[in-house]
Amino acid sequence: MKDDTDKTLSEALDVPAIPADDSALEPIANLLDMLRRTGKKYDTDKIIRAFLYADALHAGQFRVSGEPYISHPVAVAEIVAGLELDTDSICAALLHDTVEDCSEKTNCSKIRQSFGEGVAMLVDGLTKLVQLKIEDKEEAEIENLRKMFLAMSKDIRVIFIKLCDRLHNMRTLYAKPENKRRITALETMHVYAPLAHRLGMQRIKQELEQLALSFLDPIGFEEVQRDIDRKFGMNQNFIENTKENVAAKLRDYNIKFTLEGRVKSVYSIYKKMYNQNKSFDEIYDFYAIRIIVDTELECYTVLGIIHEMYKSVPGRFKDYISTPKPNLYRSLHTTVIGRDGIPFEVQIRTWEMHHVAEYGICAHWKYKSGATSQSDIDQKLQWVAKLLDSDSDTRDPDEFMRTLKIDMFHDETFVFTPKGDVIVLPQGATLIDFAYAIHSEVGNKMVGAKINGAIATIDSIPKNGEIVEIITSSASRGPSRDWLKIVKTGEARGKIRQWFKREQRSENIVMGRADVERELKKYNRPFTDTQRDHIAAAVAARIGIKSEEDLYNTIGYGGLSVTKIAGKLKDEFERTVIAEEQQSVPQADELHVKTVEKPAHRHASGGIVIDGAAGCAVKFAKCCNPLPGDSVVGFITKGFGVSIHKADCPNVKAGMMRETDRDRWVSAYWEAGADSDKTTYEALIQIYAKDVIGLLAQISAAIADMRVSILQINSQKCSGDSMILNMNISCKNTDHVNSIVSRLKGITGVVDVVRGFS
Ligand code: MN
Repeated sequence: MKDDTDKTLSEALDVPAIPADDSALEPIANLLDMLRRTGKKYDTDKIIRAFLYADALHAGQFRVSGEPYISHPVAVAEIVAGLELDTDSICAALLHDTVEDCSEKTNCSKIRQSFGEGVAMLVDGLTKLVQLKIEDKEEAEIENLRKMFLAMSKDIRVIFIKLCDRLHNMRTLYAKPENKRRITALETMHVYAPLAHRLGMQRIKQELEQLALSFLDPIGFEEVQRDIDRKFGMNQNFIENTKENVAAKLRDYNIKFTLEGRVKSVYSIYKKMYNQNKSFDEIYDFYAIRIIVDTELECYTVLGIIHEMYKSVPGRFKDYISTPKPNLYRSLHTTVIGRDGIPFEVQIRTWEMHHVAEYGICAHWKYKSGATSQSDIDQKLQWVAKLLDSDSDTRDPDEFMRTLKIDMFHDETFVFTPKGDVIVLPQGATLIDFAYAIHSEVGNKMVGAKINGAIATIDSIPKNGEIVEIITSSASRGPSRDWLKIVKTGEARGKIRQWFKREQRSENIVMGRADVERELKKYNRPFTDTQRDHIAAAVAARIGIKSEEDLYNTIGYGGLSVTKIAGKLKDEFERTVIAEEQQSVPQADELHVKTVEKPAHRHASGGIVIDGAAGCAVKFAKCCNPLPGDSVVGFITKGFGVSIHKADCPNVKAGMMRETDRDRWVSAYWEAGADSDKTTYEALIQIYAKDVIGLLAQISAAIADMRVSILQINSQKCSGDSMILNMNISCKNTDHVNSIVSRLKGITGVVDVVRGFS
């Protein structure tokens, strides 16, 4: 539990003692009063100590509005107290900005020492949320939100306190500069309000939305507000009259009730105008009354009474008691026509439903006596886990945001499975979404569907209360790519994508591998599968692809054409296959062994036989140009087969001396018939002569007479009047070249003729 950073906190503050004088506690007088009124047990001393500690840490800090900074954490703590969260939550609210803003004086382990693990963990969670600075707005929002979800899965109270923090920041946002207001308001609208909605915290959600709208569209906000006031003035006392009438009737029936009446919020009317593209005067339902009773049965009784009193608007009745919303909201909703034909909405619920509606999951702290176990709440939070799950394989932040917004903003459709289970889908979701909501395998094997027993196309959009049956077949070849355009939920889209990734990958790999193989075969050399994969892996690495499988996959689905990497494939082919071939040229020792084992196996190439070395290329060394009849020796070169020298070649003598090359000399000899008429060899002769005009002509004539062809000739002047002629001629063998040499020696003016270049 000890933290090293403790030592760096030279100025670490101790928690101040609780003063005898109450004046120091003035800033939290209201908070303490609120806590007393709840009638619940709080560790007031701990809360006071948290305040004193935070007050000391924030001393000298001020908000943009000019107030002392401590006013903010105290206000947040009051909102948290309003939710009647526990002592630790209130302490954490008071301390929530200390680690972030006073890092030189405190840290989480210091808070752990002074206030215990529970408070420290909450402060830590809140600090981490704050540290996620909003730079690139949309991505940051999403990232932030993800972190929030993660934090929430650890402890939901972190989110509650964060929402309270945001609510107070929104209430005081007017003090911030214009550009900051907009970013904060947008973030509130897109992230925090939907989150509050998801958690069922209507009260906080509505206030957040209302405030965010007032900053995002101040003019539109004021217009709607003015219109509401005007309308309210025209229909004076409508709500009062209606409430009186309803109350009188309910009393007749002996029902204990609480009645609330209200005009709908500016935000809800503004949203209706924009979503439905209507003018203010076309919006008719902006009055609402709420009847809160004790029992569920009374809810239905009251509904009956209301429908008896007023004409109901068709299609507006909703029973969220038998089919709760995913955020646990339960109520009966109906819209009826009141005095002067003015419609109004009626919400009927029990107190328990009311608390859940207002405070969401917090209601479990607020209204259930005794300690509420975390596991209780964890269970209620399964839908959050589901939300998180459905997007876990969506790495694209835009898509995450889009699907999240869709999932959060749209109303839900409730559809039944044939067994009567309720599946909740966002509005507009199709039967494919339904199938994937049941299970990925149901979606993947889907071949058809029925709505209320009648065959329906799989892209049909089910309506509330319909029974949907998915027809599956194990012969199904899986989802179609078109489904991606049809489905509405992130969950279904993610699962379909995953299928394609998984299923098609193996197909893609097979196709890509075949493409690569075809390309490699162009080089007309045998290669093994291992070599092929090795080559592909090397090419993959060069172009930044992780593995050869990924390379095949990319080629397979058409992300990369094999011609684009042909050059690199050739490169790597040479590096592996050809290099390995060269390494596999037999060594001298091996040759010897092979001679013993397989004396009959000989191979001739260019008239030369090399013991045991089958199929290797042979060339004649330029330094000595051996001829049949010469005794020869072979040298295994690096990469060009065996080079044949005359045994008395000066290079052989020198080469044999080299220790490192000794093993590379192999015995070689001329094949029988190598000197037959058909084959000729290149020979070199050197003629020393007096520089006599016409000598060259006589030499040429003699050579022509012997039917020997001259391949190349050059002359060089020497000192005095002598000269040297170098000639490459073509001849059959040593006897042949010797006869040429003696013939040339007989020419007048020729001093000497030798074979080979000196
Ligand atoms: Mn704060």
